[in-house]
Amino acid sequence: MGDQPGHEFHGNQWTAGGSAEAKAWAEKIKSSDKSPASPKFVAAVQEAVAALPPGVIEKFRLDIPGHQLPTVVVRGDLKGSPHAVTHRLADGFHDGENQRIFIMERTMSGDKNSDPKGNVAHEIGHAVAWNTGVSSRFWSTFREEHDKLPPGPRSYAKYYRSNEREAFAETFSHVFGMGRDSCSMSRAAFEQKFSGSIAQLKQDMGVS
Ligand SMILES: [Zn+2]
Repeated sequence: MGDQPGHEFHGNQWTAGGSAEAKAWAEKIKSSDKSPASPKFVAAVQEAVAALPPGVIEKFRLDIPGHQLPTVVVRGDLKGSPHAVTHRLADGFHDGENQRIFIMERTMSGDKNSDPKGNVAHEIGHAVAWNTGVSSRFWSTFREEHDKLPPGPRSYAKYYRSNEREAFAETFSHVFGMGRDSCSMSRAAFEQKFSGSIAQLKQDMGVS
């Protein structure tokens, strides 16, 4: 995780580095007693949260009355959770009602979460979307860019095309260079193919 720094928000620019606020947030991460994750995985999630830029955290605190930073809960898997049925394949999810983000070491199908960094950034994207909403300009740009993809990447990105919140969350992770790198669509390819969506999301968040 250390090879990919987060980006710091200075004035209106993102530059490399973590932030003191992000590190303080990372220290508040909770581990589940019901389904413990390995210490190595918990450390990887902490590192991912600590690499987040302060601009992101400001976005959480602004404009929303009574708003607070979500609690990040790390679990081995979703065993014993009421969310297990609807999130069988998920390695993370955002629980907006209770201001929590869950990151799992394994899906309920037993697959290992191989990218906690991309996962953390994606779920935080959901938390931001929960607070700010998703602009119709972003959503139409994302659909346009998705529909121009060649078949392989298009099939990979289909899930994010399924609704505007998924599109926002995944694009959000790429704004900070923390997005997933997969065989059917590398991080660099996503950043190139969805450059208009990334630009629109930055504009919506008031950053550049
Ligand atoms: Zn999602």
